Amino acid sequence: MPIVRFSVTTNSHRQIVDITAQVQDAVAEAGIQDGLVTISVAHCTCTVYVNENESGLVADTLEIVDELTAGGAWRHNRIDDNAAAHLAASIIGNAVCLPVSGGQVELGTWQRIMLVELDGPRNRRVTVTVIPG
Ligand code: ZN
Repeated sequence: MPIVRFSVTTNSHRQIVDITAQVQDAVAEAGIQDGLVTISVAHCTCTVYVNENESGLVADTLEIVDELTAGGAWRHNRIDDNAAAHLAASIIGNAVCLPVSGGQVELGTWQRIMLVELDGPRNRRVTVTVIPG
């Protein structure tokens, strides 16, 4: 089962990065024509999701994540003061699974694969695992 990894360097504390092109390149490199692909991040404060890359929606996504997680008396803050980032990552999830068809990730017209930095800036590692169908 081919696995391809790439890095994303973020430059803000919270940031959303469109990684669709890198994922498509990784799937092409894997050489599988049809099957499934999982895109995951090996981090506790970084996530991936699929949705439209529209600037208003990107800002809204960061805002709702903030509304859901900021300001709580979170116990994990006693350790390293980033509980909100961990909680947001748990809510969004750390992986997505998508179909591969004709050697490409199958996405809708407006769908993009988005990485969410929740405790940056950092260097993040993305793992693309292609499962032949
Ligand atoms: Zn932590």
